[in-house]
Amino acid sequence: MFFDSIGLKKELADAIRAKGFTEPTPIQEKAIPLLLMGEDVIAQSKTGSGKTLAFGVPLMDVLGEEKHVQALVLAPVRELAMQVAQELRTLRPSMASRVAEVYGGVDLEPQGRACAHAAVVVGTPGRVLDLLNRKLLNLSHVRFVGLDEADKMFEMGFVEDLDAIMAHTPREKQTALFSATISIEVENLASKEMHHPQIVRLSSDDDSISNIKQYYVSVDWRDQLKALCFMLDKEKPTLAMIFTKTRIAADKLSRRLSSAGFEAEGIHGDLTQAQRTRIMGEFKAGKLRVLVATNVAARGLDIPEVTHVINYSLPEDHRAYTHRIGRTGRAEREGKAITIITSLHDQKELESMARRTGFELVRYPAEESEIAAYNVRGRAPEERGHETPRPHGRFGGHGRPTHSGRTTHGGRPPSHGGGRSGGFGRGPPRHGSTGQRPFRR
Ligand code: ADP
Ligand code: MG
Repeated sequence: MFFDSIGLKKELADAIRAKGFTEPTPIQEKAIPLLLMGEDVIAQSKTGSGKTLAFGVPLMDVLGEEKHVQALVLAPVRELAMQVAQELRTLRPSMASRVAEVYGGVDLEPQGRACAHAAVVVGTPGRVLDLLNRKLLNLSHVRFVGLDEADKMFEMGFVEDLDAIMAHTPREKQTALFSATISIEVENLASKEMHHPQIVRLSSDDDSISNIKQYYVSVDWRDQLKALCFMLDKEKPTLAMIFTKTRIAADKLSRRLSSAGFEAEGIHGDLTQAQRTRIMGEFKAGKLRVLVATNVAARGLDIPEVTHVINYSLPEDHRAYTHRIGRTGRAEREGKAITIITSLHDQKELESMARRTGFELVRYPAEESEIAAYNVRGRAPEERGHETPRPHGRFGGHGRPTHSGRTTHGGRPPSHGGGRSGGFGRGPPRHGSTGQRPFRR
């Protein structure tokens, strides 16, 4: 049985058995052994998944007889602090009187007295900081810090309090951070306070987007296209879907991508069914690797080979976000979703959308300067003037659809800008020596 096989102190193992818990919940099964080994852990799982014990068991297991405070747990609200403290007490009955709970709204002095002989302090950040500032609490010997519902603490504006509290703890300590989501703030705290944290996530079968890695990249709005081309070049997707807000934007972007040398076409509600079918067919067959789409056009598409979804512009809400990124990571495959953001406002919006997915959103591993310095090969037609031959039928490059409802750039012209022969992936490879079709011409 799990709880008997992981080498817990006898009192603790007995207490868990007395609760009638025989099997761990999935998050406990993953997090407890890591924490027992001394690793820092960031764990993400939904409410009701048994997080309290996931950090509570290893925390109570490290406690010794020492007189100072050995472990600290921070929780966003009073009720939660009380609940966690109560649960911890049941795990080590002999230590029950040394679990102190501290929170605002009541007298500080009695809590200060409880802290004086506590081995574990469970509290809300504001009150913990008050006690520290009044020298009623000493965290200089703390070995274990548990952060429960970290995302909520950040949402409630406890960022600075958390920083200040952590500054009172030793550098050498173990940290377990539990959160329903892994936000930017969580990441920041982790990078400041934790030592190579292990990230534990529930790979829930019911959640179809658990295998999609979610990234964002933040750039100046003028570098949006650059960022996209940079990503495509760097990621070399098998198939990529790029999302724009409007069909006009989709058309314009696919044209600009074509000019930059990427084989791209736009798909949206203005196309005839025959056109859509042809484009989708080429995309599915891998003859076309980049599809620029609007939400509507992408509804229900199930193309397992889509390795990347890129949000060129932010979706309108979390449903649209989930729907968009769900175009990748199909059939258990790994997928990547990258969202390009150009303002702090975008970032906040995106974080809140991603939070709803319950899975982490992380910064794309590239510097903004690296992207800014990236050179988009070729330029969008509207910036380029007329030095290159244009495919027949192309007009001024303002994104107006033709009579048939789609722009002409993606027809079957003999060449795209620069006089290059044939579209990427259609003609013979230009750098064919490897036999591998290059992602980009
Ligand atoms: P979370 O913090 O993830 O919302 P809790 O730690 O509050 O979840 O646990 C939710 C409920 O599940 C509690 O009633 C708890 O006692 C119970 N529980 C926790 N671990 C187990 C387990 N291994 N087996 C059975 N029930 C458990
Ligand atoms: Mg909880």
